[in-house]
Amino acid sequence: MAATIIDGKAFAEGLRAKVGEHVATLKAKAGVVPGLAVVLVGEDPASQVYVRNKGRQTVEAGMQSFEHRLDADTGEAELLALIARLNADPAVHGILVQLPLPGHIDAEGVINAIAPEKDVDGFHISNVGRLATGQKSMVPCTPLGCLLMLRAHLGSLQGAEAVVVGRSNIVGKPMAQLLLGDSATVTIAHSRTRDLPQVCRRADILVAAVGRPRMIEGGWIKPGATVIDVGINRVPTPEKGEGKHRLVGDVDFEAAVEVAGAITPVPGGVGPMTIACLLANTVTAACRANGLPEPEGLTA
Ligand code: NDP
Repeated sequence: MAATIIDGKAFAEGLRAKVGEHVATLKAKAGVVPGLAVVLVGEDPASQVYVRNKGRQTVEAGMQSFEHRLDADTGEAELLALIARLNADPAVHGILVQLPLPGHIDAEGVINAIAPEKDVDGFHISNVGRLATGQKSMVPCTPLGCLLMLRAHLGSLQGAEAVVVGRSNIVGKPMAQLLLGDSATVTIAHSRTRDLPQVCRRADILVAAVGRPRMIEGGWIKPGATVIDVGINRVPTPEKGEGKHRLVGDVDFEAAVEVAGAITPVPGGVGPMTIACLLANTVTAACRANGLPEPEGLTA
């Protein structure tokens, strides 16, 4: 029987609506308007699209959006001075520096200059440590989106065998920490894992965050498993014309859908959840900054 398709687009719409309601309540009851500052250095076309989408969705949710676009040759000192101003600005509850940064800037140093409580990407070393030790933290947006969808689909994750393929700092590792936080039994697989198909076949929950088009085959999936495909890969489609492409995930969707119990598609799965979780993190940060109770269901 074909798997249930986990509709990330619909899920993200629901989360954004929930964020919008909380923003309205915060304004009405506490006079607080959550604010998100996004910093873009340079003219990378993909980054420009992301920043535009983030700004638009921030405003649509009723929040304040502060965009800072800096030239590609901006010096590190100037960028750090901007971060210091944003750290001190009470109207700014979340700060996101769009990655990648130009090569002459030390990205790690810049991320760690953001006040941890405003680090809505959850990449600051203090948030990484807090997540790993089970303390309240800002949680990276993409894995948070995966967790929220898993909880909504499965209810409890307790005791489930979870396999995360990929060990990057932005997806694989925080994803594994979140699954562990929900008491799943977690395996992290990577490029040196022996017999990856066999490891994947153990998984009740399989999260693919590799960046290799359709690498995970249908035969690697345990019947009935829940499959979360984080991968976003552009593959050429010469049959549709020269230079044309389409997006595919890390999972061979057509094969997997026949075996899995539930699966996220690409596009329309994890992708839309990432910005929705950024907005959710900004509301969480605004509540914490003002000593207000945090809304349920917006974070881990
Ligand atoms: P990275 O390149 O940083 O990490 C990829 C991971 O996959 C590494 O840990 C690597 O292992 C592992 N890997 C590579 N090849 C294999 C293999 N043959 N077998 C097993 N493991 C392998 O990627 P990211 O984590 O940043 O991103 C992963 C995917 O998710 C990409 O397609 C990216 O575009 C997408 N993505 C989607 C987002 C969204 O919003 N939906 C957000 C962020 C990313 P090793 O460490 O051993 O090299």
